[in-house]
Amino acid sequence: MQRSAPWSRSRLAALNAQFEPQHPRVVLDWAVRVFGPDVVQGTGFGPSGIVIMHMLAELAPGSTVFFLDTDLLFPETYALRDTLAAQLDVTIERVHGGLSLDEQAEQAGPALWERAPDRCCHLRKVVPLKRYLATKRAWITGLRRDQSKQRANTPILQWIPRYEVFKLNPLATWSRKDVWKYLFAHNLPYNALHDEGYPSIGCMPCTQAVNRDGYTREGRWQGRDKTECGLHVDPS
Ligand code: SF4
Repeated sequence: MQRSAPWSRSRLAALNAQFEPQHPRVVLDWAVRVFGPDVVQGTGFGPSGIVIMHMLAELAPGSTVFFLDTDLLFPETYALRDTLAAQLDVTIERVHGGLSLDEQAEQAGPALWERAPDRCCHLRKVVPLKRYLATKRAWITGLRRDQSKQRANTPILQWIPRYEVFKLNPLATWSRKDVWKYLFAHNLPYNALHDEGYPSIGCMPCTQAVNRDGYTREGRWQGRDKTECGLHVDPS
């Protein structure tokens, strides 16, 4: 059965106008009060995600944070997950699609990420996310407007028909500088690969180091038109 949005589009617009000048903590506080345990944070343990985890741990200790395990994450990312789980009062859940890399190779051929990355992302990220969010009401992400041209118009709050959840992007208005300032001010850990020239870190086959300043999503799917894994692209 289709879950209905508790607010009309006009209410969403009013809330976005209200949230726009507010600190992300205000948005998160609203989310945990409105949605309770039905709001979850999704993260790949990037700097923005860590900032949100820290705020959530203070506002609502024990909050659920999930990550999509594609089986292709860097060892540094798994190590960071363990460090964060020990340091912050959140519950980290692993979300996996159930399809092993061997099974994927049998069904779709080897190294699908090289031949058809959109299909690989669909199988390893979009399908598991949709299944996981089916029982949730709201999804918090670390999207920021300064991360790429495609994210420049990211709202703070939106309804996502594809997953039938509200999506909250509390750091939409923050810059990369704001995020790193918060990380250092609170002595929070971050992925060791950032110090090796990786501005954005996803799966190993699709992430490269870059040696210049620019959008923070550079280094993902280099040499291809692809800029998003599909999680944040609503086809409707
Ligand atoms: S980022 Fe690359 S390896 Fe990871 S799911 Fe997408 S295509 Fe596959």
